[in-house]
Amino acid sequence: MVLKSINPANGELIGEYTEFNAEQFGNIVDRVNRSFKTWSKTGLHRRIDHVKNLADLLSVNKEKLAAIITNEMGKNIAEARAEIDKCAWLCHYYCENIDDFLKVKPIQTDASESYISFRPLGVILAIMPWNFPFWQVFRCAIPTLLAGNTMLLKHASNVSACALAIEELFREADFPNDVFRTVLVSGQKVEKMIAHKSIAAVTLTGSDKAGRSVAQSAGSHLKKCVLELGGSDPYIILDDADLDLAVQTCVKGRLLNAGQSCIGAKRFIATPKIYDRFKAEFVREMKKASMGNPFDENKQLGPLARNDIREDLIAQVNESLNMGAQLLCGGLVNYDDKGFYYPATVLSNVQPGMPAYHQEMFGPVAALIKAKDETDTIKIANDTSFGLGAAVFTSDIEKGRYLAEFELEAGCCFVNDFVKSDPRLPFGGIKESGYGRELSIYGAHEFMNIKTVYIK
Ligand code: NDP
Repeated sequence: MVLKSINPANGELIGEYTEFNAEQFGNIVDRVNRSFKTWSKTGLHRRIDHVKNLADLLSVNKEKLAAIITNEMGKNIAEARAEIDKCAWLCHYYCENIDDFLKVKPIQTDASESYISFRPLGVILAIMPWNFPFWQVFRCAIPTLLAGNTMLLKHASNVSACALAIEELFREADFPNDVFRTVLVSGQKVEKMIAHKSIAAVTLTGSDKAGRSVAQSAGSHLKKCVLELGGSDPYIILDDADLDLAVQTCVKGRLLNAGQSCIGAKRFIATPKIYDRFKAEFVREMKKASMGNPFDENKQLGPLARNDIREDLIAQVNESLNMGAQLLCGGLVNYDDKGFYYPATVLSNVQPGMPAYHQEMFGPVAALIKAKDETDTIKIANDTSFGLGAAVFTSDIEKGRYLAEFELEAGCCFVNDFVKSDPRLPFGGIKESGYGRELSIYGAHEFMNIKTVYIK
């Protein structure tokens, strides 16, 4: 099988990559497993030096790397540059903190000495998506490698150039051979990869469908897995919200990465008093989003990453409209354009039963929902199988804090801002958004043997 990269801005084939066969995969995983034996015993300061090299290379090669991202999955070039910057930030963050995160922790018991030690597990298989093709990989790779594990990357089939560019960066950063390797393999082959005796654990960022499949394989082989899946993040706008801030933030949260983000703002739930004003301002701002060539610095929205992603979105919108949702802007696709563009779109009167209410909308489509009252906003916000992020807009900070901490069923709850990942804060979901955490100290501990040592 051949993995194809298609430029989503014009539909042209820009790369073809022959999929690795079982023998090639087996060979690489054996090498990565062998390198674990030495890497896990390499001093932490040497590991940190390699990651510092990586951060420097990211910064020096920012333009080149950003262009690879934009060519292959279509995000606008400014966002691609920001993604590379964020990877460098993450490298620096972990270089500064990993020593602390991995420090042995003495615990007083009836032993003469007892403590917790953090030991690596082995080869971690990372199955990654195309929407943030560098960030998602770095986010799991950097803490995992610094902790002494080695890693095998199986990237999404439409971003093989990104996958190979990342592997090349590790090589240039002078990492020992086979500490980090890319394998070009399609999703259907992943089950066999998980089964391989040298794979210690697996992490996936992607759809809930892929998540179920990975969890099943990992479970049947009794291997640990971390799942970072989709979301349908609710944004609650209360009566006392700063309307301007809420509108600007909600639009930004919805349009980032052309809406293709697991933590994108997706459902906007407002109380009756503010709903009409929010709707009018929100639609006005969404209409301003310019769409076009992602290398054009003046365009906010590039194309969606693949045509099938766009087809899925069109079907979700059409079905919601057929069920009674109202189209306030966008929604129309120009099929004469060879790129996979989809405009900023707003749906109102979104009701239970509609795809826009229940499903993840992976594109620039906003679902507006009018709640009966404040209590109803929370009920609607939590009326989802997902639980990744959520936000609430209010000028009453204590109320916002209470709702974020105690009422909203999600892994990342923000007050008066859009949900974003930050190396310093744990990231991950509950319910069908997956389990496990990335980033912060919690991400660094996911692929560790948290070991008890007890000396009588
Ligand atoms: P997938 O979940 O199919 O792809 C993500 C990764 O999982 C890719 O590397 C893919 O490989 C791999 N994969 C696919 N099927 C399996 C499987 N059965 N077992 C193991 N790995 C698998 O997402 P899509 O790209 O098809 O996007 C579909 C939808 O998923 C989006 O519209 C969005 O709703 C959601 N999604 C969520 C993401 C997030 O950030 N949480 C990221 C991407 C998508 P391959 O590319 O070779 O199929």
